[in-house]
Amino acid sequence: TQEKQPPHNIALLPPPGFIGHFIPFIELAKKLVYRHSCTATLIIIPDDGSPMNPQKAAFLRGLPPTIKTILLPPVSTDDLAENINVEMLVPIRVIRSLPALRETLTFLRDDSSCSQASALVLDLFAPHAIDVAKEFNIPAYIFYVVAANELSFCIDLPKYDELCTSEYNDMPEPIKLPGSLVLNPNDIPDAIKERNSDLHKLGLDLCRRILFADGIMVNSFLELESEAFKDLETRLHDIPPVYAVGPLIRTGAETESDRGSECLNWLNEQPPNSVLFVSFGSGGTLSIEQFHQLALGLEMSEQRFLWVVRRPQENAAGAYLNINNDKGSGSFDEFLPHGFLERTKGRGLVVPSWAPQIQVLRHASTGGFVTHCGWNSILESVVFGVPLIAWPLCFEHKMNAVFLTDGLKAALRVKENEETGIVYRDHIAMIVKGLIQGEEGKQLRIVMSHFQNAASNVLSQNGSSTKALAQVVKKWISGN
Ligand code: UDP
Repeated sequence: TQEKQPPHNIALLPPPGFIGHFIPFIELAKKLVYRHSCTATLIIIPDDGSPMNPQKAAFLRGLPPTIKTILLPPVSTDDLAENINVEMLVPIRVIRSLPALRETLTFLRDDSSCSQASALVLDLFAPHAIDVAKEFNIPAYIFYVVAANELSFCIDLPKYDELCTSEYNDMPEPIKLPGSLVLNPNDIPDAIKERNSDLHKLGLDLCRRILFADGIMVNSFLELESEAFKDLETRLHDIPPVYAVGPLIRTGAETESDRGSECLNWLNEQPPNSVLFVSFGSGGTLSIEQFHQLALGLEMSEQRFLWVVRRPQENAAGAYLNINNDKGSGSFDEFLPHGFLERTKGRGLVVPSWAPQIQVLRHASTGGFVTHCGWNSILESVVFGVPLIAWPLCFEHKMNAVFLTDGLKAALRVKENEETGIVYRDHIAMIVKGLIQGEEGKQLRIVMSHFQNAASNVLSQNGSSTKALAQVVKKWISGN
């Protein structure tokens, strides 16, 4: 009699930090076990020495037994500057965790209680681990959890670097995204803005290393980023095979912080499509002045709103480093304009730090979303057909805003004052009204519902993303 083969075990290495990368890795692991009869091992690099971020810990608690987690020991980063950029810190943590990753893969291979990894799936901040996978003779695939547009940009970056003599801003031709979308100097991702910085050097190194992977799965789908995928296809001979496997957005059980949420009860009482959801992702923050203008703008708009507030600070990406340390966010009213809460009572709801975003976006009362343009937030809005106001803050989010407004035509974009960089209340009030009540909002909703249908098709039994993931799994299993 033939012995039944044990399921193939896929090891996944999400990056430390960045909840926005962690969530899609968990969703990918679920797809692999539920749809493709694999088992999965999530290898977790700790954020820092303190207990795990509560959101992350909650996501891990809800997993089936076919997904195992292995927590690597924390690495020291005491030698690094305290205000180090998060996009620098994350790859450094990954590099310092490589010996522990090696030990873990050895353990999976040699210990009788485990099964050896058939493939290693890596984050875009972790391409240094490709070499480790090669030592074990297993395929290394990147799970690219942001836009295909960004992948295309990242592949071109070494070329831009060669062409450029001073800064990218001064290039004779503007940088373009697939589909001839022009990237204004201000929309170039923060990490590479200063060409002489260490951050730029590291970014360039990551972009080059990604190309040594055996394949790249992108959390996007063909219809949404048709130009970008076409562009990637033309480079087939120079880059690893690219698979559109998304949109993989958060599914499954609600976590403690989602449950019994006041804001869902409040949404239940509002009319359909009437509420503007305002949230800047898992760590985006506004300066105190900008925070004030936003409050006043929401008030002036006279629209209903649900605003997730985070303690204001100057560095827009500052809270990504210590999301669990948003101390004092419970007393956010000290930052709000005097009397704001009373004046907007009933019409607006302010919640501190975290909202159950999936449930909010899928709620019938939600009529629009002011987003910082994180890729998960965009995919979630697409899946639930919610039109957007793009308010990018940092990282590659301005690039996403260009794609959303000029490419997809699914968002209005806020305009910052050229001198101060602030988005003022009159403008906010106008754009919010336009989205919730105006003709422009209606048009955006039509565009979004088109992509909503497409998103549901690509994930159906015979959809392109389902098939693409099946193709990848087949390669892993057959060993070629
Ligand atoms: N999120 C949430 N509640 C919040 C803030 C964020 O559930 O209050 C989730 C959101 O649904 C998304 C992720 O956290 O899945 C944030 O990812 P995104 O790529 O949008 O932004 P990032 O935080 O990575 O900048």
